[in-house]
Amino acid sequence: MRKALYPGSFDPLTNGHLDLIRRTSKMFDEVSVGVLINMQKTPMFTADERVALIAEAVKDLPNVKVIQFAGLLVDYVKENQITAIVRGLRAVSDFEMELQMASLNKKLNDDAETIFMMTATEYAYLSSSLVKEVFKFGGDIKDFVPDNVYEHMYSKK
Ligand code: ADP
Repeated sequence: MRKALYPGSFDPLTNGHLDLIRRTSKMFDEVSVGVLINMQKTPMFTADERVALIAEAVKDLPNVKVIQFAGLLVDYVKENQITAIVRGLRAVSDFEMELQMASLNKKLNDDAETIFMMTATEYAYLSSSLVKEVFKFGGDIKDFVPDNVYEHMYSKK
């Protein structure tokens, strides 16, 4: 069974993330979306909230599950027989950090292969931090996030 892990903060899930999950789900038997806890920055949403929002947004994809984890990514990969770590690339600026992380993970566990999915061009500009910034200043984020994320964000305001 080919299993992918798509790790990230997802604070919050955007349409760019969701597009990537959909495309990845066609390539693997099982895709786990992994919400990272223990982030250095204080997230806008708790890990439980992020997991629930992603689970709702992917409920039509039977081979996608949502998990949360702390600690080393490579340990999770090993314990769960993950075939590939999936990350997204938007601009060239993503490349440096992603190369560093993929190389480090490979060094820590030689079986930890990272594959990169190119962003869909219509979402190339989109990031969770941009969504939070626009939201904070009262801009409309409807086109940036799935409907359930949109409703959740406004219900908390
Ligand atoms: P992290 O804090 O681990 O970078 P993010 O939630 O910001 O977590 O992103 C998770 C992954 O999704 C990263 O690989 C990032 O490059 C990718 N990603 C984020 N936004 C997009 C997008 N609009 N299109 C494609 N990939 C994206």
